Amino acid sequence: MTFKKTFLGLTCTLLAMTTWAQDKTLNIYSARHYPTDEVMYSDFTKATGIKINRVDADDAGILARLKAEGAASPADVILLVDAARLWRAEVDGLFLPIKSSKLEEAIPANLRAKAADNGGTAWFGLSTRARVIVYDKLKYSKTDVDSYEKLADAKFKGSLCIRSGSHPYNLSLFGAMTEHLGPAKTEVWLKGLVDNMARSPKGGDTDQIKGVASGECGVAVTNSYYLARMMRSSNPADKAVTEKIGVVFPNQSSWGTHVNVAGGAVARHAKNTDNAVKFLEYLASPAAQNHFANGNNEWPAAKGVSFDNPALKAMTGGSFKSELIPISAVGMNQIKVQQMLDRVGFK
Ligand code: FE
Repeated sequence: MTFKKTFLGLTCTLLAMTTWAQDKTLNIYSARHYPTDEVMYSDFTKATGIKINRVDADDAGILARLKAEGAASPADVILLVDAARLWRAEVDGLFLPIKSSKLEEAIPANLRAKAADNGGTAWFGLSTRARVIVYDKLKYSKTDVDSYEKLADAKFKGSLCIRSGSHPYNLSLFGAMTEHLGPAKTEVWLKGLVDNMARSPKGGDTDQIKGVASGECGVAVTNSYYLARMMRSSNPADKAVTEKIGVVFPNQSSWGTHVNVAGGAVARHAKNTDNAVKFLEYLASPAAQNHFANGNNEWPAAKGVSFDNPALKAMTGGSFKSELIPISAVGMNQIKVQQMLDRVGFK
């Protein structure tokens, strides 16, 4: 009798511990390299009691780790910062398609994965960033660079700065161009970019902005939030940089500026799936969406969220036209794009 009691007691304790572990823990693999995100993680924990364990790495590192870990992976939520990577992970079967009416209502269809066979969605875009053109105000004017196509004009010979063609941000831009122009014209355009380079691609987007300010580059390509960060910086050196450059949201009179997404998914072998869905739903909530906008200078992906960010307002004059092609198609083009880059010698 005593044994039975003890035995049952032990069983109950173990069950309770398992439930507690599932209820109170969430393991996130994140490629979001933005310190301002910390507030979102702590707000989620405060509101739900769910403790977050986070592994930070870049997109490629996260995908490699998930593949190596297989079914033993502790990851519940995956956060990536680019459509091409989200698509790659989806195709490689690293995500668990989920059904969430909250996420489906909040996130527009063109900013998430296509519905899977079971009706679930493999990933959701959670914020957007525009790939914009910056230019030296002393050398050029806005109309010189009001489209991506113009970056291949011969007048920019020796003037263009851009990070590596194989970086996901560029793979996605070029994947979008392939959707808009078709592959043949896109390859000619890419060759034009290579011919116009001021230097071999190096550094990140901020380095390209600084290159324009220093006079080494006449025009450059960057994600919008890097520029907004410098505009809002209290560092005089950053202010000095932004005063020298102009910014253009390209293709306003045609298909609109290319926007990429940062997004989230539930990991294929997640153990805490309920918490994972809860966390993604939280990221799509107005509070978290506002944080993406005010903390990291991104645009909310969720519909109807109002936000107040002076740098984003100053850059766009209030709003801008963004392209409307499905972001999943952009990811799908990346293999084709990489082959074109190799052919035209875009490092
Ligand atoms: Fe980035």
